[in-house]
Amino acid sequence: MSDPLKIILLGTGSPRPTLDRHHPAALVQWGRAGTMLVDAGDGVVGQLLKAGIPLDGIHNVALTHMHWDHILGYPAFVWGSWNAGRQKLTVTGPRGTQAMHHQLVESYYREQAEWAIDLGFPRAGFDDVTVCDVPVGWSTEIDGCLVEAGPVYHPPMHALAFKFTYQGRTLVVTGDTAKCEELIAFSQGIDVLVIDACAIAPAPDLAPARQRIIERLHEFHASPQDCIDIAVQADVGKVVLTHHLPGAKPEFDASAFNGEVIIGNDLDEIKIS
Ligand SMILES: [Zn+2]
Ligand SMILES: [Zn+2]
Repeated sequence: MSDPLKIILLGTGSPRPTLDRHHPAALVQWGRAGTMLVDAGDGVVGQLLKAGIPLDGIHNVALTHMHWDHILGYPAFVWGSWNAGRQKLTVTGPRGTQAMHHQLVESYYREQAEWAIDLGFPRAGFDDVTVCDVPVGWSTEIDGCLVEAGPVYHPPMHALAFKFTYQGRTLVVTGDTAKCEELIAFSQGIDVLVIDACAIAPAPDLAPARQRIIERLHEFHASPQDCIDIAVQADVGKVVLTHHLPGAKPEFDASAFNGEVIIGNDLDEIKIS
């Protein structure tokens, strides 16, 4: 029997490109065929193919926010999965998601889509994409899995975390966030927390301008220690650190945490059974 709930980390990097970490994206799978792509950073289509995931089988996308590192691969996914035979698609995200779809897909590529349809592509797959801007507190059920949008702190962006509950197993994917009480409450008692750990301490040999950027990350991203503290306070079973800066070695003291800490890498699979 397949695992009830699992997540494949497709991209565990940060905006600065590296060879070993792609931009943020993950695939959540449940039951026999339930899937949701969470974020779609650059390289997401290639990473899905590397993970052996048929592109035409993904009918749900959740976007945590509209920062470019989380959506550059979105138009490539819409086109690539349509090309692979995908038809219906539902896309959910915070305020700005519909506008992003309109600008990155519909507005720029409509003419090319009509050309492809004239060549014989089905209209379904491009025309039946449903895009929804949703608030914190939104929820839906997909193939027996409860999917909920929760709060994070990532100013100045509208941003969401997503929680998955399937057959008693629970998973939260935060997207980008600093430590906040609302996220701790939303993640209370879950099995697995996949969380942004991008705000590391700046290396002393960094150029001053770069050092200032790294210091400012703490205003809207969690540090690895913040992630552990959130995991302790929310009493989660396992915490997975992601959104790593190039070459970063996350440092933290997890002695107060009873669960497991995973430093996420591209194409890692975390099963929740
Ligand atoms: Zn962001
Ligand atoms: Zn980001």
